[in-house]
Amino acid sequence: MTLSQSLEGDGPFSQLIIRGVTLINGNGAPPIGPVDIVVENNIIREIDVVGYPGVEIDSSRRPQLAPGGKELDCTGMYLLPGFVDMHGHIGGRAQGAEPDYVFKLWMAHGITTIREPSGRGVDFAMDLKRKSSKNEIIAPRIFVYTGFGQGSKEQISSPEMARAWVRSNAQKGADGIKFFGAPPEIMSAALDENKKLGLRSACHHAQMDVARWNVLQSARAGLTSMEHWYGLPEALFTDRTVQDYPLDYNYNNEQHRFQEAGRLWEQAAPPYSEHWNTVMDELLELDFTLDPTFNIYEASRDLQRARRAEWHEDYTLPSLWDFYQPSKISHGSYWHYWGTEQEVAWKRNYTLWMTFVNEYKNRGGRVTTGSDSGFIFQLYGFAYVRELELLREAGFHPLEIIRSATLNGAEALGVSDKIGTVTVGKLADFVIVGENPLENLKVLYGTGAIKLTEDNEVVRVGGVRYTIKDGIVYDAKALLRDVKRMVEEKKRETDYKIRQPGIRE
Ligand SMILES: [Zn+2]
Repeated sequence: MTLSQSLEGDGPFSQLIIRGVTLINGNGAPPIGPVDIVVENNIIREIDVVGYPGVEIDSSRRPQLAPGGKELDCTGMYLLPGFVDMHGHIGGRAQGAEPDYVFKLWMAHGITTIREPSGRGVDFAMDLKRKSSKNEIIAPRIFVYTGFGQGSKEQISSPEMARAWVRSNAQKGADGIKFFGAPPEIMSAALDENKKLGLRSACHHAQMDVARWNVLQSARAGLTSMEHWYGLPEALFTDRTVQDYPLDYNYNNEQHRFQEAGRLWEQAAPPYSEHWNTVMDELLELDFTLDPTFNIYEASRDLQRARRAEWHEDYTLPSLWDFYQPSKISHGSYWHYWGTEQEVAWKRNYTLWMTFVNEYKNRGGRVTTGSDSGFIFQLYGFAYVRELELLREAGFHPLEIIRSATLNGAEALGVSDKIGTVTVGKLADFVIVGENPLENLKVLYGTGAIKLTEDNEVVRVGGVRYTIKDGIVYDAKALLRDVKRMVEEKKRETDYKIRQPGIRE
């Protein structure tokens, strides 16, 4: 078939047969192919292994096209379940990033499901969720975790108020709550009420409340996932109860906040020590999910890498670039004077953090993939692929990474019966890419991976070819071209050029 190559996507179809792929499933199974996949409307109906590598396919063994059906020839390509981004803020006013821009960057990178861990309020997110579920807009499926207390006229100051807010959040249709920490009695009440209602939860254990309520307390009270890493070293303290803050520290000075965070893991119990093991085992026992979002802190250990990423020129909006610039005001722009000392501390911080996350996975714990893009030079979609690379650095096998990006996310959201693997009966959410992503995760970047041909010619390979959501086939490269066009348009308006911090000419 020829797809219309339209941005809107084609389908769903009464029958769609995707032919000739190598299937990399999200369940930890190794690749297998060639495979033909039959989808009816939005449901996977058949997964047929139709031959052997290097042997011509016997067409009589292949599923037959029904009248009115569509074929998508993907011979030699790799097919994976749609990716789940567990930490996807749908842009923001401060960044000047509107949903259409963010959604297209995500979809262009195979992200077919996101969890929004707070944003512009429950009504804003629910409206987008409904439109996405009807495929009226080009967007991943959306799970709404409202920021705790968001929309409340008064600050939540009692367990009763917390419970009432949790009930009203559920009534509005949200899927869960995103916490940033609160006093213990309020966290307990809110988590208890939320659990009773059958909703899920995430928490960024911010420093302002973590001394009395760390990750372990959250997990015991029913929190289902932790974001980033804050609150975990605190649960691992053995010789202190608060972080070793310099005495002139001010939380609203973000150089203080992020610089000292870079020294936090070394204040915790060392890897494989008794306390470290005990805390890990209790979290495992509680079926607690880690959503590390490694990428969003990467500029802390290598600012130049993050700010010089090659995609900024074509795909980063001027308003977003401005937001990233060193500032005493913008969140995550803590580059007052960020140098060698800070980067080296953060490299050590990463090693200790990654050791915990990898071992958690090895002991059967659920680790998911989340990006937290739109801050700290991390761009939607691209940063998700970087997250996959950082899971690799942490010690995950590429197949473990794919499971983290698909099935684990689906499980953490409570929807693994519908998405997360390529399984008969599940929804048709797929990522299709020309190269083997296990061999080189960089082929998933929209800008592709660099390769030399036999003739010594430099080429780019990869970039997601098709993203399929709800049985609708999107040309991922066309989505990316549209983002590029949006960025060019914005730049033309003000004759804008991306410049590195402090460079004027
Ligand atoms: Zn976030």
